[in-house]
Amino acid sequence: MAKSKGQTEIIIFPDWCKGCAICVSFCPAKVLALNEAGKSSVVALEECINCGFCELHCPDFAIMVRPRQAQNRRKNDVAPSESASVEAPDKATGAAAGDPSNDNDPKS
Ligand code: SF4
Ligand code: SF4
Repeated sequence: MAKSKGQTEIIIFPDWCKGCAICVSFCPAKVLALNEAGKSSVVALEECINCGFCELHCPDFAIMVRPRQAQNRRKNDVAPSESASVEAPDKATGAAAGDPSNDNDPKS
């Protein structure tokens, strides 16, 4: 797991957070704190080292840590299988592996 700073997005679901502060206590980088409403909140996102402790120890599944590049997948709108076909064209025909015009499918 990558441990470099500034690579993560942290999502907290306030409806599920009961303010127990377990995530705050476990965070080694002091990224989290309880806010005025008594809920966990992000106070130093750039310090997050993606250790995942907060997500692992939250008893209410109220916090999620994910890589920042996950945000860009929708923007590019390319499914993993589609991107693989772009990178690996069929050797015989030169067509992309997922190309429907590729008639080398053994099922047909
Ligand atoms: S561990 Fe979960 S429930 Fe407790 S304060 Fe953190 S996010 Fe909220
Ligand atoms: S993943 Fe969670 S516990 Fe780990 S540094 Fe980031 S906010 Fe703190």
